[in-house]
Amino acid sequence: ENTLISRNKQLNDNDENQLRPLAWKEYYGQSKVKEKLQIYIKAAKQRQECLDHVLLYGPPGLGKTTLAGIIAKEMQANLRITSGPAIEKAGDLAALLTSLKAGDILFIDEIHRLSRQVEEVLYPAIEDFSLDVIIGKGPGARSIRLDLPKFTLIGATTRAGLLSAPLRDRFGVIEQLQLYQPEELAEIISRAAAILHLNIDEEGKMNIAKRSRGTPRIALRLLKRVRDFAQIMSDGLISAEISDYALEKLEIDKLGLDKTDLRLLNIMALNYAGGPVGLETLAAALNEDSSTIEDVNEPYLMQIGFLAKTMRGRVLTEPAWKYLGLSAPEKSKL
Ligand code: ATP
Repeated sequence: ENTLISRNKQLNDNDENQLRPLAWKEYYGQSKVKEKLQIYIKAAKQRQECLDHVLLYGPPGLGKTTLAGIIAKEMQANLRITSGPAIEKAGDLAALLTSLKAGDILFIDEIHRLSRQVEEVLYPAIEDFSLDVIIGKGPGARSIRLDLPKFTLIGATTRAGLLSAPLRDRFGVIEQLQLYQPEELAEIISRAAAILHLNIDEEGKMNIAKRSRGTPRIALRLLKRVRDFAQIMSDGLISAEISDYALEKLEIDKLGLDKTDLRLLNIMALNYAGGPVGLETLAAALNEDSSTIEDVNEPYLMQIGFLAKTMRGRVLTEPAWKYLGLSAPEKSKL
């Protein structure tokens, strides 16, 4: 078995995969993306063709890998999973591509992390299903072109802007996944609770859902941690009270904000008078990676209307000031 695709094996044995939906009806939310993909899949199948290459982007944990799995199942195709950082050399990708069978779906997570040289190999592969191989060295070297079977590439990344324009332009389908609404997360929690045989009431579900930053992966993680508290501290029922207690212990506040989010908001308010402040400045002040702030913290803070992006930088909004219990300086009343 090719080590580049060893993640394939994990598809059945770890916990996250036990909860991974395998069919559209178990994949909640993302209705616009779902609706379009269902049409593209149906049309491609009717024409007996491969699906066009798909780029999925959005914050981590929103279900990109899950979606790739459902697409593969619907296309009755074999799914091969790898990631940008796993493909180190052009030769790694060439080996992977030549091992594909007609109709396979190749999923590359963190596709923005492919090196330039690897990207160069990918272009002809996804454009004309061919691979240029250099044989020999020095003046005698020559390039031969190998045909590859037709396949579908599904790339995943946090922001489409991270991809080089030539790579981005080669995807026929480009879809953004959105943060989930609490009601959608409550359904995801409900399904997971049933699979894990947990006892949870409606308030317990909603309480966890509202504090999961719009992200299924976080919702499932919190569900498991709250379950531990329910099991040890009470009778096992995941209720509003026990989830409040557990989430407080986990230092997740009423809106799902964690310590980093709160530090970010406080630094913006107290050190920068609410902004505008640049991303790099903020990252330095927080001692965090700027891409983590941009991919993980900001999308949720923007969704709940606490942060706005302007040409001159990030600014705190009025509701954020209120939430922090501070009064906004006149100028930043947005
Ligand atoms: P990353 O990009 O970081 O790999 P991802 O976006 O690929 O993350 P997944 O691994 O697909 O995220 O999803 C995380 C977990 O959340 C999965 O185990 C799955 O069970 C659950 N999940 C994600 N999206 C949905 C959904 N729409 N409905 C139900 N469950 C979901």
